[in-house]
Amino acid sequence: MGVYESLVNIVGAERVSRGQEEIYFYSRDSGAQPPGKADYVVLPKSTQEVQEIVMLANRERVPITPMGGGFTLSSLAVPKKGGIVLDMKGMNRILEVNETSRYAVIEAGVTQAALRSYLKRNYPDLQHSTPEAPPAVTVVGNVLIQGHGHISPRYGVNSEMINGMEVVLPTGEICKIGACSVGPSWFTRGPLPELAGLFVGWYGTTGVVTKLGIRLYPRPKYRDVFVFSTDDVDLIPEAIAGVTRLDLVEDFFLISQEKPDWMNRVFFVLILSGHFEEEFALKRDLYKRFFRDFAGGGKVEFVEDLHPALRKRFLDVPPLAALAADFRKGGGFEYTGAIFPIEKVPEAWRKGIEIAHRYGMLCSYVHQVLPGPSIMFGFNYSFNRADKKDIENTRRALKESNKLTYDLGGIVWKGELGAQKMAMERMDSNTLRLITRVKGLLDPNGIMNPGNWDPGDIS
Ligand SMILES: Cc1cc2nc3c(=O)[nH]c(=O)nc-3n(C[C@H](O)[C@H](O)[C@H](O)COP(=O)(O)OP(=O)(O)OC[C@H]3O[C@@H](n4cnc5c(N)ncnc54)[C@H](O)[C@@H]3O)c2cc1C
Repeated sequence: MGVYESLVNIVGAERVSRGQEEIYFYSRDSGAQPPGKADYVVLPKSTQEVQEIVMLANRERVPITPMGGGFTLSSLAVPKKGGIVLDMKGMNRILEVNETSRYAVIEAGVTQAALRSYLKRNYPDLQHSTPEAPPAVTVVGNVLIQGHGHISPRYGVNSEMINGMEVVLPTGEICKIGACSVGPSWFTRGPLPELAGLFVGWYGTTGVVTKLGIRLYPRPKYRDVFVFSTDDVDLIPEAIAGVTRLDLVEDFFLISQEKPDWMNRVFFVLILSGHFEEEFALKRDLYKRFFRDFAGGGKVEFVEDLHPALRKRFLDVPPLAALAADFRKGGGFEYTGAIFPIEKVPEAWRKGIEIAHRYGMLCSYVHQVLPGPSIMFGFNYSFNRADKKDIENTRRALKESNKLTYDLGGIVWKGELGAQKMAMERMDSNTLRLITRVKGLLDPNGIMNPGNWDPGDIS
């Protein structure tokens, strides 16, 4: 029996396709990277189906690319070497919410929007950390790429919020990680050997996550946004250090755009929240005082007259921080997500503008402050999807900002193949060998999302 017929046997003819339309769609994403080529698209509904598909692929040496929303923009869920795209969106059940221990257990296809609206409806006092990504992206896809959400400055990046996992290994075994491996509850992932790390940051090259236990957080009663601005880029590291030292923000990001003119400066956007009015008012006053006295005074202004539409966008969950950045028209967008130590921000800021200008683009920045403190510095590029030259320029600009990131001592987050290669070229050789060994151990036939984290000719 051929691979297609075997897949039909496992999931039924309605949930597998090799038709032209599906193949076209699943062979690319909305970023600027070149397309791949899927041979089959499958939508499993259960862990058992995933297991059977993985065992089939392992037996027949057919590549498998797991896919959630497919929205990293850096082509991480696009098959580089053909084979099966395993679209997890069919596994979309929210299995448990524990209100007291504050966690949820979900299947891998649950989207950010589905979890958010489910909690809002049924557990209005709870929330999860929601990224500023399209609502159709999955919670699992985000956690696995070490994404960040609207409460990350307060509680950590989203991969730190994992309580447990169920994973189908590339050889077909179903494996549990965290407290759920020793008992019925998914209340924590430790204290046990830290196995979640075998699947986080690996881009689906080590197994298929089928279930996830994820922490939930109290939803505060009071929230508001406070915006401060300055023209002095060199003040940024000290400002971030000071704001995070006070340790009272829920969310904290920086934005700037060359157009319109009023946006061509640094804006610090602070989301403050509180469960009591007095607590909330105290936080607000402390930050106003902090910036008034900051750097000798008068260098950072409080934006008193924030437009109501902007206030709403920033307060939405997720916030809509990117404003009018579709400068080129045509809807294309991709970014180098550079994780930097904060002291590198001024240099990255200036050089990022130079890169954008070199390729005829206007600069547009959204940077998310992360715990540490560190920062996800977005070198953002909008391009016209209908214009081949524009796409090529974007690829070149991305390559330059990836290189700049490493040259400044940062790390490219969720990088496309070129960025992964840059990381591996710079990596300690024993670390690289360890990565290769771990992959080989878990996936002896190299079927899982091949091409990613592949040292290839790097020695
Ligand atoms: C406009 C825009 C704004 C964004 N803002 C943010 C932001 O604020 N914060 C943020 O964190 N991200 C952001 N992103 C990036 C990205 O969209 C999100 O991180 C998103 O949550 C990724 O999830 P996904 O379901 O699309 O993952 P996918 O792209 O489907 O998958 C990501 C990787 O994980 C693997 N994978 C997926 N599911 C599984 C599974 N079940 N088992 C094993 N491997 C799997 C895939 O093979 C791939 O390598 C943004 C993207 C856009 C387009």
